[in-house]
Amino acid sequence: MSNIKKLFILALVGGMFSLTACGAGDSADSTPTESTAESTASTESAAETTTPVTTEAQEVTTTQFTYTTEQWKEPEEYGKVIALTFDDGPNTTTTNEVLDVLKEFDVKGTFFVIGNNINADTVPVMQRAVSQGCEIGSHSMTHDYMNSMTEEEITADTEQVNQLIKDAIGTEPKFFRPPYIATSGRMYRLINMMFIAGFGCDDWDPAVDVETRVNKTLEQSCDGAIILLHDAQGNSQTVEALRQIIPELQKQGYEFVTVSELFHAKGIQYVPGVKVTFSKVPQ
Ligand SMILES: [Zn+2]
Repeated sequence: MSNIKKLFILALVGGMFSLTACGAGDSADSTPTESTAESTASTESAAETTTPVTTEAQEVTTTQFTYTTEQWKEPEEYGKVIALTFDDGPNTTTTNEVLDVLKEFDVKGTFFVIGNNINADTVPVMQRAVSQGCEIGSHSMTHDYMNSMTEEEITADTEQVNQLIKDAIGTEPKFFRPPYIATSGRMYRLINMMFIAGFGCDDWDPAVDVETRVNKTLEQSCDGAIILLHDAQGNSQTVEALRQIIPELQKQGYEFVTVSELFHAKGIQYVPGVKVTFSKVPQ
């Protein structure tokens, strides 16, 4: 079955819901809300609204870093893969501490950044992430609930953050994490990126201790999973948790990849506009 067909069927089956086949359940970076009434209004087929983009090797170069997909293996050469993702940065403290740990264990992650946090101080942190092989996604401009925004507000928010990311690292994001994992049909229609949720451990809550973060993450880990963590300023408990999560999953045979590489490893072509919020890449 072609990958496009596979995604089309997924869109029909998955509808507006997150794909959360493994682990104890879905999670968000805060209290998730129900989709708006508009969510169920759209019956147009995903195939008609998608624009396939090939995953050919691409290279983005600035004076400070090089990002390339040329080192990607063929999909059949991957074993168990998993994607660590981090929301609510960038900042110059915790984001750098997360990058230090990723570097220490020689693994990659994906950072879903908030546009309002992108500035002259944090652009170099984003560039550092890319230079370590990490990917940058969008977590919106303002981190407001976008499912209650007008069309104009959604479009303006998306264009603004995507331009800031492009100015910082030379390329626009391919993936979008909706704030609070709150989605609507209007958002799916207007935001031309693939939507990503993930398996979280409520690490945005300071009351959740390191051990709980580690255990919940490990319990929910499975082949193709997207792990949802936060690099918000001061979230040192997640930095500590990572020091346990990464070596344990390595011991279990997982390879850490970016979200782009996760889809590539599972043979799924990147298709923006598909009406699914992914927590796991289907096999
Ligand atoms: Zn967030």
